[in-house]
Amino acid sequence: GQCVTHCPTGALSERDDTMKAFRALANSDLITVVQIAPAVRAAWGETLGISREFATVKRLVAALRKIGFDYIFDTNFTADLTIIEEGNEFVKRKFNNPEPNRYPLFTSCCPGWVRFMKSQYPDMMEHFSTTKSPQQMFGAVAKSYLAEILKVDPSRIFCVSVMPCTAKKAECALPGMDSTGTGPDVDLVLTTREIDRLIVAEHIQPMNLTEEEFDQPMGISTGAGVIFGATGGVMEAALRSVYFLATGKNPDADAFANVRGMNGWRESTFHIEGKPVHIAVASGLQNARNLVEAIRKGEVRYDFVEVMACPGGCSGGGGQPIAMNKELAQVRGQSLYGLDKNSALRFSHENPSIGALYERFEGDELVHRVHELLHTDHNAWEMPLSPWLRGKDC
Ligand code: SF4
Repeated sequence: GQCVTHCPTGALSERDDTMKAFRALANSDLITVVQIAPAVRAAWGETLGISREFATVKRLVAALRKIGFDYIFDTNFTADLTIIEEGNEFVKRKFNNPEPNRYPLFTSCCPGWVRFMKSQYPDMMEHFSTTKSPQQMFGAVAKSYLAEILKVDPSRIFCVSVMPCTAKKAECALPGMDSTGTGPDVDLVLTTREIDRLIVAEHIQPMNLTEEEFDQPMGISTGAGVIFGATGGVMEAALRSVYFLATGKNPDADAFANVRGMNGWRESTFHIEGKPVHIAVASGLQNARNLVEAIRKGEVRYDFVEVMACPGGCSGGGGQPIAMNKELAQVRGQSLYGLDKNSALRFSHENPSIGALYERFEGDELVHRVHELLHTDHNAWEMPLSPWLRGKDC
């Protein structure tokens, strides 16, 4: 990709893939499918001079449609799917397994965290959730389920992610992230900063945008999906569904709200089905290291741990707009919690589009397809691995 230089001396540059997006949009053989990550909606307007209230995700949908993307979907949909798969993993481990585990189940949706652990504490990888991240689940579902709905060959689908994250550019190039044998599930990752550049390059006036709806069926999501973008959000969303999966009843949607906050390492204990569930949430890699060291020394014991590499989670991600001398992760996170509060659906397992997706497959086929499309093998690649150096970026 081309480089955009921000450093006055030219010593630092940022990878910019916007030209790849323009090339795909200009190729009439390709069907361009774009997904918008949860945290992007809390930040995309910052560099365009529009308020957080005006810069809704529905206005971003309108902008992407004007740019020319064929289908615009929501990563929140696959965030819900991630929660169901990960929630099931946790329930099996905690409630159906008589042997207590030495280590907790770790979330695996942040590629910065996965890479950190693979390089620093590889012996703990077997305790990572095998559930794919929402970005990678989306790509796998787009090139299988959506391709079937559209009656097109998966190779014609060009899957673009709009992410708050630069590490996602490497995640989509990892070995194993090709579920249909037709190339990477996610073809291109654009950061929030890059999508803003695309909007400016297309001379779109954000103030003139009116709200538009996502396409279906991957445009329906819940409040549990949207809080993925804030530190603690994956844990809170997962616990809402874990409670349901373990007891058959929904908890109060805010029952796990005390996992929220900006402390880099926080912990809670909840009681589900008569059992104590000890959880911890960390963001920032120094906090992650402290937490992992404490676990290894036996100083703390948890059942389930969420870690995000960026301080404050994806809201403060490396691909988000940069405000000089201002840390915006918290205010963006609050905006996501506001969206959750106002959602008609607040439990991932109540997302009707996900029910329809699972119903598409039955019996053995369901088990096989779920494994193939929605789970990953963390041993499929070794550290050190640099997609950049190998020239194998997606
Ligand atoms: Fe990417 Fe940072 Fe979010 Fe991890 S926490 S997925 S590195 S933006």
